[in-house]
Amino acid sequence: MSNCYELPNLPYGYGDLIPFLSVEQLTFHHQKHHQAYVEGANAILEKLENAREQGAEIDMKSTLKELSFYLGGHLLHSLFWENIGPKGGGEPKTELASRIKKDFGSFERFKKEFSQTAISVEGSGWAALVHEPTSSQLLIMQIEKHNLNLYPNGRILLVLDVWEHAYYLDYKNERAKYVETFWNFVDWAEIEKKFHLTFFNKRFNMAGGK
Ligand code: FE
Repeated sequence: MSNCYELPNLPYGYGDLIPFLSVEQLTFHHQKHHQAYVEGANAILEKLENAREQGAEIDMKSTLKELSFYLGGHLLHSLFWENIGPKGGGEPKTELASRIKKDFGSFERFKKEFSQTAISVEGSGWAALVHEPTSSQLLIMQIEKHNLNLYPNGRILLVLDVWEHAYYLDYKNERAKYVETFWNFVDWAEIEKKFHLTFFNKRFNMAGGK
């Protein structure tokens, strides 16, 4: 089996995100759900490899749709674990703080729009804060499942998983409560690191921004 992708270790312990996430909730989410996306992506890559070796016909449409789902799931979960942590909460302090103010009016307004994005996902999906390099602005993205409504080339700085598997053990149907508690665990130092990497690499973007 192709081992192109691997489940990353969490940068904290399973009990470190209480009261946002219980040990049971975080363990299931990471070890079962995220693991399944890793395995799904690897299985599809293996299927493609085997078909190439054997010169076999393959249904590219359905295969790539599946790859987009599983790989999207793996990459989004990897980003999600990084942008939350036990020392989270508060507000960004550096250049990101002024960019949020410029693009959303205020941090409070950004939080409100992001929370509403997360709460209003139909079924399963994600809310994400994205740096869109062509215009060099911050945008919010509402991802359905793991792979719909994405902005091409947008660099994700912050994501929130609102699939039921992310919160149901702890919050049952109260997604809004889960979203509200999330803000106390957002690791702004990590997000600022990502922002500085993408923001200052803008000049390498070939799409031509302002
Ligand atoms: Fe998830």
